[in-house]
Amino acid sequence: MADTFSTHPGQDPTLQDLLAVRPALSMHAIDGLVFEDVPLNAIADALGTPTWVMGAQTLRTRYHRLDRAMRDAGLDVDIHFAVKANDHLAILKILHAQGAGADVVSGGELRRAIAAGIPAREIVFSGVGKTRAEMELALHHGIARINVESAEELDLLSAVAVACGRTAPVALRINPDVDAGTHAKITTGLAGNKFGIPYDRAVELYAHAASLPGLHAAGVAVHIGSQIERMQPYRAAYARVADLVRAIRARGLGVDVIDCGGGLGISYRHETEGAPEALAHAIRIELGGLGTRLEIEPGRWLAGPAGVLLSTVVLRKRGYDGMPPFIVLDAAMNDLARPSLYDAWHGIIPLSARDAVAPSEQVHVVGPVCESGDTFGHDRTLPRLHDGARVALLDTGAYGMVMSSTYNARAMAAQVLVDGSRWDVIRARQKVESLWAGDIIPDPLTHPAGAE
Ligand SMILES: *Cc1c(COP(=O)(O)O)cnc(C)c1O
Repeated sequence: MADTFSTHPGQDPTLQDLLAVRPALSMHAIDGLVFEDVPLNAIADALGTPTWVMGAQTLRTRYHRLDRAMRDAGLDVDIHFAVKANDHLAILKILHAQGAGADVVSGGELRRAIAAGIPAREIVFSGVGKTRAEMELALHHGIARINVESAEELDLLSAVAVACGRTAPVALRINPDVDAGTHAKITTGLAGNKFGIPYDRAVELYAHAASLPGLHAAGVAVHIGSQIERMQPYRAAYARVADLVRAIRARGLGVDVIDCGGGLGISYRHETEGAPEALAHAIRIELGGLGTRLEIEPGRWLAGPAGVLLSTVVLRKRGYDGMPPFIVLDAAMNDLARPSLYDAWHGIIPLSARDAVAPSEQVHVVGPVCESGDTFGHDRTLPRLHDGARVALLDTGAYGMVMSSTYNARAMAAQVLVDGSRWDVIRARQKVESLWAGDIIPDPLTHPAGAE
């Protein structure tokens, strides 16, 4: 399966289909599209667009479903939110208040998580290229664990830990050589990927880790990719991890913890949302009997459906020779990169109830950035959208705002948190002047020679 978006033939979901499976969103005759209990038009009126909106109650509800699924399976699983999916301090605080720790992949994310009030003992550090400075930072704060991805990194971490006078709890991230059946750019558990330690070297390296000074070999980690819909790849990866744990123990070495990774998918278009209950079942069957502590690191599943991106139609541009018109939005690939990066499909719903029932037409939905890849939807069937109409791009709570750039000198969009009927700005729209505030002009350019 190459991509979640091209492999499900048939018609796109209608606006009603999209709303039916997104309980946080509803269409009201007067208020229009409402997220939790807040009319999205009220936010767009106050702040303009593009604006990211996250739903606090939606996040909490999703966290609780995941947590309950693990408990109902009889598992005691620590949930570490993958900070890279959405690193806003308010989002981290909400999830931490529900019981989540954090999974970070850089020193910056580690500092963000700590700034949000998550203690380092609830933070795990993953990633393929941790620098010496990042390792020192993590050890200095007393991180729960560092997931190591190579022999070279083990040796470096050992040296850093000894130099700091600390013991680094480590897990080896194993590459199980399992195809997660997801998009090539978000699959991470195949032998050719840059991630993890080759499976057949894992026992030997675990023994090496246990022998190195400054390290405590605590366990094994696996993360096979993102936007995973089916349980079979998880089952296959976890079965290999279980074999590995037995082999490590047969060498007389201890395994305290298994980090089962993230990757649970959501339904953007026609995909089946990954069920936490099914994941819990897979973990229980394959790993539940080993007597280790268990952890998961979901990002997308928790945060994706908890966010929308509000945008306004700048203009309609006529298509060539009877081709569909272009609906040009004020949001672009610099805001939401997923469509240009992964050909991702995001639902698009008008904010006004009247716009939502306008006769439909086929359109291309694009952003204003000077790249053909700046396209949100090809051949979409949408209600006719007039200039100035507002829309919500759905399921943008994960890998949305965090991937924004300022390409084309476009300032970062505003961010809002909805919590029931309350809403708050959680980041003001970036001032365009701040885009060049850090630019330094070398002296000779300001005072050219001979220009006295
Ligand atoms: C990105 C990542 C995750 C989260 O993946 P999702 O698909 O968002 O759940 C978890 N663990 C590691 C190591 C990651 O790199």
